Amino acid sequence: MAAGPHPAALRKVDRRKSRRTPHEPHVVARAAGAGTGIGPALVLGPGREKSSRLRHPWIFSGAVERVEGAPASGDTVTVVAADGTILARAAYSPSSQIRARVWSFDPQATIDAAFFTRAVAHAAAARWPLLDAAHTACRILHGESDGLPGAIADRYGDVVVLQCLSAGAARWRETIAAALVEATGARCIYERSDADVRTLEGLPMRTGPVLGTLPDAGVVIVEEGIAYAVDVVRGQKTGFYLDQRDNRRTVRTHAMGRRVLNAFCYTGGFSLAALAGGAASVLSIDSSADALQIAHANLARNPSLDATRAQWNEADVFTELRRLRDAGATFDMIVMDPPKFAPTAAHAERAARAYKDINLLAFKLLTEGGLLATFSCSGGVSADLFQKIVAGAALDANVDAQIVARLTASADHPVALNFPEGDYLKGLLLRKA
Ligand code: SAH
Repeated sequence: MAAGPHPAALRKVDRRKSRRTPHEPHVVARAAGAGTGIGPALVLGPGREKSSRLRHPWIFSGAVERVEGAPASGDTVTVVAADGTILARAAYSPSSQIRARVWSFDPQATIDAAFFTRAVAHAAAARWPLLDAAHTACRILHGESDGLPGAIADRYGDVVVLQCLSAGAARWRETIAAALVEATGARCIYERSDADVRTLEGLPMRTGPVLGTLPDAGVVIVEEGIAYAVDVVRGQKTGFYLDQRDNRRTVRTHAMGRRVLNAFCYTGGFSLAALAGGAASVLSIDSSADALQIAHANLARNPSLDATRAQWNEADVFTELRRLRDAGATFDMIVMDPPKFAPTAAHAERAARAYKDINLLAFKLLTEGGLLATFSCSGGVSADLFQKIVAGAALDANVDAQIVARLTASADHPVALNFPEGDYLKGLLLRKA
């Protein structure tokens, strides 16, 4: 594994300073009609402080009665209730419906380089148990759930890919990058702030090295002892779907002797895991030629895996599943990990139809006793709704199935209790009767 500070060094960080201690309400003293006198501030309308009191990190535009002190995009503002109580310190996002994202609910918190250094060090230290010789990659920063809204960082060996998805995270990008180097010993912090949500924040797309340079030989990680190349420059998201690490292990555990179909395979994560688990064959489908090229190379990179058992198919999954069904093909295990069909609840209905369609086809392609690992990473589709959609698909396919396991994102993608939106990945491991 790449060199980094020893965990003991990270423990030296003074946790007391960043702990969110319960506190007496701080009330802004002010004469009627005067400014709050505390620098840039967002003053909420009467009764609009409820979600802040529950420590939800988002302040929606509708809750804000007035903005004081003319903050610029990404500036730190004090969030004040209508009665003058200071609720939080937050980053201002003037273009977004999420008008501010909370850095700290401590009214006296100073949002400076030391704040980010502490937060990043804590997040990185929590991931140490997840990194060893057989696992050289994991998510280091998971945005709101790590107390740093909009800041995502994935560690791939000695390269860290950073996404700044909010105005506040973008404002502090160099500071966060420096903190990541300090906490991980990374040789390069590479920015991939090219996700669509940047547009909602009024931010331009931004990619490239922030600190250091990428290795000429490219980035290669090891997960469960399997080597994968990660295209951090052009790959999807930050280059690899680390959130599926535990679920790839689950698939590997159940793959022995099975004929596997991996739909939406990207660079072959589940395909190689299934081969490592002793799958009899693995057919992988993706519409991205670039992803399949890397998948193919990844297999070649792991000589212990039997490449003759793998087949790669560049195709649209919706069309290909129908073709396979019409051709009478069957599989003993199917992995179905599609892209986000419903980013928000507004897209849920259309997404539900798409999920039902592919899961129905999967049930038809499965043999008796066959396993289906099916996922949704749509924020707009809850775990409950997803289970209902999948149950509807089984009913329409006229099959019975049982839930063997409920699947979520891996442990390096924690979900803060006050931020249920962080719980975006849900999956079911099902056995067809
Ligand atoms: N399971 C993968 C990640 C899947 S990401 C892993 O563990 O690494 C979703 C993938 O679906 C992407 O690779 C994308 O190229 C592919 N995709 C999106 N729409 C598709 C479609 N209609 N047909 C086939 N592949 C599609």
